[in-house]
Amino acid sequence: MSAPHIGVLALQGDTREHLAALREAGADAITVRRRGELDAVDALVIPGGESTTMTHLLREFELLDPLRARIADGMPAYGSCAGMILLASEILDAGVVGREAAPLKGIDMTVRRNAFGRQVDSFEGDIEFEGLDSAVHAVFIRAPWVERVGPDVRVLGRAADHIVAVRQGQMLATAFHPEMTGDRRIHRLFVDIVTGRA
Ligand code: GLN
Repeated sequence: MSAPHIGVLALQGDTREHLAALREAGADAITVRRRGELDAVDALVIPGGESTTMTHLLREFELLDPLRARIADGMPAYGSCAGMILLASEILDAGVVGREAAPLKGIDMTVRRNAFGRQVDSFEGDIEFEGLDSAVHAVFIRAPWVERVGPDVRVLGRAADHIVAVRQGQMLATAFHPEMTGDRRIHRLFVDIVTGRA
């Protein structure tokens, strides 16, 4: 397969870092803001940012239902932080009524929004990541954690006993931000998932 076309949802959040990381990991990376762009990509990265705002913008841009449909259809997706929240099947502390983050239901898991954020706004640490031969330096910013995973979800990483990285089929999610560190192994893993190598 030639370089896969991977979109980065570019309504809000740290889009540029993911585009750069994906390109370094061998993908043809483009921004996604419109329906036509979503239809054209093989896979999608949902970046960090604010999941409630992203949900609002997904509705405004008429992307929420098309994105749910593509995910239900099996399009590979990777979500970091706010993106992890959106990929969940259930979100706890989803936000104020009327402005809640809406689950896209890509991964059978319950995620608590701002879970670490209640304890400490942001922190960094080295974590073991299944399949990688050395620790990943993980940056957490008002990060969620995963409180429940379904039987088909593989836990790939934990921090302070909480699940912070998961994979279900071609769906990948991390509570932290690998796009911020220069370590491209997690983006490479996603590219390999998209091309069927992982
Ligand atoms: N707390 C944010 C949210 O609820 C996520 C933070 C982040 O993406 N760095 O969406």
